[in-house]
Amino acid sequence: MWTFLPGMLFESERKWWNKKGNREAPHEGVDLLLYKTKRGLIERVEVGTLIPALFSGEVVSIVEDYLGSSIFVFSPPNFIWAYGHIEINGEVKKGKKLERGEPVGKFAPSKKGNVPAHMHVSLAVLLGNCSFTLSWSTIVKERRLKLIDPMPYIALEYELIETFDF
Ligand SMILES: [Zn+2]
Repeated sequence: MWTFLPGMLFESERKWWNKKGNREAPHEGVDLLLYKTKRGLIERVEVGTLIPALFSGEVVSIVEDYLGSSIFVFSPPNFIWAYGHIEINGEVKKGKKLERGEPVGKFAPSKKGNVPAHMHVSLAVLLGNCSFTLSWSTIVKERRLKLIDPMPYIALEYELIETFDF
């Protein structure tokens, strides 16, 4: 079961890495990294773990981000899924149609030592036509997109913990 520190959740204003403190802007999605095993232990997803597409759709943009690479996927009728800080599967290119469950990439080592490797997931609803190039700045600023909490679409149950020793 996915497990979160408070700063990993959607719209959280807190950081969960380094010395904590506040984020520069409310979190645009969720950070997936910790999970609870059947025995009740909290573990980290290992670098190299395959990431399945959460929904089917078409790859519309691939960009570099400050920890890894990001991929934006249009899922009809009007959803944009974004997966960030990952290592993208070499066969996954712009225009590719992804089936749900097909690997989009892997958990990547973090490019910044003070931020633990993790996957960021954002979900946006498209309010008009997608005639712009998707990137992290457009997904936040573009008025034709509205960010929503992806967790109800990822898992209905998850655990919240207060601290984790990285
Ligand atoms: Zn994040």
